[in-house]
Amino acid sequence: MEVEKKFEDLNLSPWLLNSFKQLGFKQPSNIQYNTIPAILSGRDIIASAKTGSGKTASFAIPILSKLSEDPYGVYAVILTPTRELAVQIGEQFNAIGSPMNVNCCVVIGGIDTVTQSLILEKRPHIIVATPGRFASHLTNGLKVALKFCKFLVLDEADRLLGEDYELEIASILEHLPPPNQRQTLLFSATMTKNLTKLQSIALNEPFIFEDNSKYDTVDSLKQEYAFMPPQAKDCYLVYILKKHQGQSCIVFVNNCYAVEAIKGMLNKLDIPTVSLHSFLDQKSRLAALKTFKSGKVKVLIATDVASRGLDIPDVNIVINYKLSNSSKDYIHRVGRTARFGRSGRAISFITPHDVTLVKSIESVIGKQLELYKTEDEEVFR
Ligand code: ADP
Ligand code: MG
Repeated sequence: MEVEKKFEDLNLSPWLLNSFKQLGFKQPSNIQYNTIPAILSGRDIIASAKTGSGKTASFAIPILSKLSEDPYGVYAVILTPTRELAVQIGEQFNAIGSPMNVNCCVVIGGIDTVTQSLILEKRPHIIVATPGRFASHLTNGLKVALKFCKFLVLDEADRLLGEDYELEIASILEHLPPPNQRQTLLFSATMTKNLTKLQSIALNEPFIFEDNSKYDTVDSLKQEYAFMPPQAKDCYLVYILKKHQGQSCIVFVNNCYAVEAIKGMLNKLDIPTVSLHSFLDQKSRLAALKTFKSGKVKVLIATDVASRGLDIPDVNIVINYKLSNSSKDYIHRVGRTARFGRSGRAISFITPHDVTLVKSIESVIGKQLELYKTEDEEVFR
C-alpha cells in the first residue's frame, strides 16, 4: 500500500504549511514529495514529470523555505522560455511566499527596460526572466547583484538548453556564481537526454527524478483525432466550438497569421475569442490571457507561444487545428488541459498529409489517438 504523502513530512517551516492551506494545497504531488527534500539538502536536480503535476511549486517551495531563513537578494534566478510563463511563475512565488513578503521581479521582453533596470538594481529576492531580456540587461552593463545568488532554475529546461537560447544562457551563466557555489535545478515534462546539452549547464552530481520514464501524457486526458480534408477545418472548428459552447477551449495553429485569420472568421460568426502570438505587443498578450483566465471569453487561439507551461486550471478542450511538426510540442499543447488531476480533452484535426506525424506522436506518447465522435454524423456526410 502506498504511504500517504504529507507536506508535514518535508521538514518545512510552519509559515509554509500555513501558506499551502491558504492556497488549497492539501498534499504534495509525487514530484514535489521527491524533489523538495533533495533541493533542501543542497543537491542539483534534473526532474521531469507530466504536464500539470506541480513542477513550479517543486522548486518554489524549497527556494522560499531557504530564503526565509536568511532573506537577501538576489537569491534565485529562474529562467523560462516564454514571457507569459515568467509572469505566471512570478505569481506562484508571490502566492506561496506572501507571508514572508517575498520580493519577486519578472524580467521579460516587451516591457520598458528602464523601469525594469531600476527594479533589478533594488535587489529583488527572486528574478524570474526570459533569457533574451535578462542577458541583454547583463551584457549592457546593468549591475545586478548576482554574487551571492544561490539558485539557478531552468523551467522547461529542454527548450532552454536548445540552440535558440545557447548564447543567451551562456552569457547569463558568466554573471552567476560558479556551479559549486549555487544549486542548479532543471525541470521539464519532456527532459532532454542529450548529455552534452546537460553538461553545458555544469551540474554537480545531480539528483535525477523522472516521474515519466518516457515522454507521457496524463491518463485523465482524452486524446482524439478528427480526420478531414484541409478545407473542412474551419467548418469542423465552428461545429466543435458551438457544440461545446460554454467550455473553455484553446485552439492551436502554427503561425501568427493563421491565428488572426481564424479569429476574424469566428468574430464574424459571433464566437468571441482572444488571441496570443508573438506579433502582438506584450500588453495585448497579457490582457488576452487575463480575459481568457477570467472566463469572460471561452476561446483562446494561439501559436506555440502558449504551448509550454501555462496553467489555466479550467481549460476543458485543446484543439490542434494544425499539428506542430514536433511530438514534444504536441505533449506540451495538450498538457494545457487535464492539469493537476483534472480531466480534459484534446482533439487534433488530421488531414491525409499528417498521417506520418500522427504515427510518430502516438509512438512517443505510447497510446493511440481515438476517433472523435461527433454524434451528429449526418452533419459531415
Ligand atoms: P507543471 O509545471 O508541472 O505543468 P504547475 O506547476 O503549473 O504544473 O502546477 C499545476 C497546477 O497545480 C497549478 O495551478 C498549481 O497551483 C497547482 N498545484 C501545485 N501543487 C499543488 C498541490 N500540492 N496541491 C494542489 N494544487 C497544486
Ligand atoms: Mg510548468
